Parts: sequence; structure tokens; C-alpha cells
Amino acid sequence: MKKHNFYAGPSILSQYTINKTAEAIHDFAGTGLSILEISHRSKEFTAVIEEAQQLFKELLDIPQGYHVLFLGGGASLQFCMVPFNLLKSKAAYLDTGTWANKAIKEAKLFGQVDVVASSKPDNYTYIPKDYTVPADADYFHITTNNTIYGTEIRQDFDLPVRLVADMSSDIFTRPIDVSKYDIIYGGAQKNIAPAGVTFVIVKEDALGKVERAIPTMLDYRTHVDKGSMFNTPPVLPIFSAVQTLRWYKEMGGVKRLEQLDNEKAALLYDAIDSSRLFVGTVAHEDRSIMNVCFVMKPEYKDLEKDFLDFASSRGIVGIKGHRSVGGFRASLYNALPIDSVRVLVEAMKDFENKH
Ligand SMILES: *Cc1c(COP(=O)(O)O)cnc(C)c1O
Repeated sequence: MKKHNFYAGPSILSQYTINKTAEAIHDFAGTGLSILEISHRSKEFTAVIEEAQQLFKELLDIPQGYHVLFLGGGASLQFCMVPFNLLKSKAAYLDTGTWANKAIKEAKLFGQVDVVASSKPDNYTYIPKDYTVPADADYFHITTNNTIYGTEIRQDFDLPVRLVADMSSDIFTRPIDVSKYDIIYGGAQKNIAPAGVTFVIVKEDALGKVERAIPTMLDYRTHVDKGSMFNTPPVLPIFSAVQTLRWYKEMGGVKRLEQLDNEKAALLYDAIDSSRLFVGTVAHEDRSIMNVCFVMKPEYKDLEKDFLDFASSRGIVGIKGHRSVGGFRASLYNALPIDSVRVLVEAMKDFENKH
């Protein structure tokens, strides 16, 4: 049976990416060797990492003065690398969910942290809007898409301080004005590649401002100087990332991806809003177009397990909600075809008709 993959991460990749990766595992760039067994310093792989940087710059329209890095350690390591490299005395953070919280915890190891606002008392069902960022903060950190709670910031803030964003789960879903940010980072396993590589877009001017000693591997300047080749980079995920980015380019770039993502999200949110059984969990104006969270209305709560079984009988995979929200979460990453959303919506309607 055809599967419809709604996992939140690692998550669906384009068939193009998977096919090209499979080919390279057997024979990489005509070398007669697998990509798994070739030097990262070979000319064939050097060309791959350079293309990865180039495609990031092109697709996101990254201006001069920025570097694109491919590192290990996941987005979670960035929670510590950001303050290690940027926090002199005080940083400001917006608390919009689990990942933001984890970032805050790490920053506290390096200095004062001002949490300017938090939607935690309401179980992170909205993005706080009423706050001021202290003008003397070294930077302001946001999580643009809250993968677990299904809220999203879809605008680029104009601020008097440096802006840092975790875009793990919504990179390449809209044009962004990179010049407004000093650092944008994220794990690749939501919208780009298999797990194992983290992208970091860093402004040259943000670096070298702190006094503290930074361990070599945690210092962005190490990786800037060596073009992400100070040590062995995650070769295979970087190769897959290039395939995905080529596919994005071929499709028409981030503007086109945004249109398609909006269509998919609208289809599912409309089904939720017009349903007798289901209800969304977050404020409408802050709804994520990547991770759609919904539950059964209180009077139908005991049907949740039945719906999961019903959906899985139709090939729908990965819609069980995160334990901190419950219910369901359908992740609609770029590689998910709109037909999969149609299948989910139809399953919701058919299930509703039975109850
Ligand atoms: C998945 C996710 C992370 C964690 O990424 P790792 O690569 O597992 O460390 C961090 N932030 C956001 C927004 C995420 O969705």
C-alpha cells in the first residue's frame, strides 16, 4: 500500500533525493566507488560541498558577508554554539516552545538571559507579540517554527539588536530577508536531508566579538576558515542536501515552495475547521504551515486511538501528536505531495461519517 508520510522528523524526503542518494551509494560521480567510502577531500566531494553552499546562497538570496556552514551535532549543538560565540553579557530569547526552552537553558551557561515573553502558561498555543527586546542585548533568539506545538513566525523582524533564528523546520518554505539575521541555523532532517548535518548561515560581522576562549570545534571561525572541512563533515547528508536543493531549484525556488506549502496547509486546516470531531490546538493567526496540530473535541476524545488505526489502514503514517500536545500532528514538509494531504482529509471525513 502506498504510504503517506507525515512524520515530524526525520521526515519525508523527495523521491529524487532518495534515488540520487541510492545511486551515489553504489557509484558516486562515476568514480566506481561508493560515496560512503571516498575521501571528503577528493575533488568529487569538494564539488558537492561547494555546490551545497552555492545552492543555499542562491535559493535564499544570501547577501555578501555571510558564510554557509555544514556541521555535526544537530540544531541542539547550536543552542550552545550561539551563546558561546555571541553572548558577551546578556541575550534575549522568545520562549515559544520546547526547542526555544532548550536554547534558553544553554544560553544561561554563558551570561544573563532575558526571556522577553513566553506562551508557556497557555501550553504554547500562540506566539507572544507584546514584548520589547532590550536594546543592550547581544542578540535576540527566536524559533521561527515550533515543530512540536505547531505555531510559526512567518516574518522577518526589524530589530536594533542582532537576530538569531532556529529555522530547523521551516527553512526553504518562504523567501527570507537574510540581511535581518546574524545567524540562521537548523537540523537538516526536517526539510533538507537525512539526519546528521546542521546548516548554519552566519554573518561574518557577528564573529570575534566575545572575549572568552572558545574550543576549536565550537568556534564558528574554525569552520568558516576551513569551509566546513576542518574535520570530516557529514558527507552523505550533505550529498543528499544538494539533491534536495537541486530539486527545489528545479521546482521554482522558495516562492513556489511557499505557494505549494500554503495550499497543503489550507486544505488540512479547512478540513479541521469544518469538522464536527476535530479541532485545531493553536491560535489561527499563528498556525504553522509545516506542522499542523489538532485533537478530537472533548466529547469525542476516546475516538483518538480509533482514528489513528483508521488512518494507518489507509497508509497514513506519523500523525500521532507529540506527547506534550496529544492528539495528532501532521507535518507537511516540502517533499510531501498534496495528494497525501487529500488522503488524510478524506480519511478524516470518512471517519466522521462513521461516528
Ligand atoms: C528538530 C528540531 C530541533 C532539534 O534538532 P536536532 O538536530 O535533533 O538537534 C531544534 N529545533 C527545532 C525547531 C526542531 O524542529
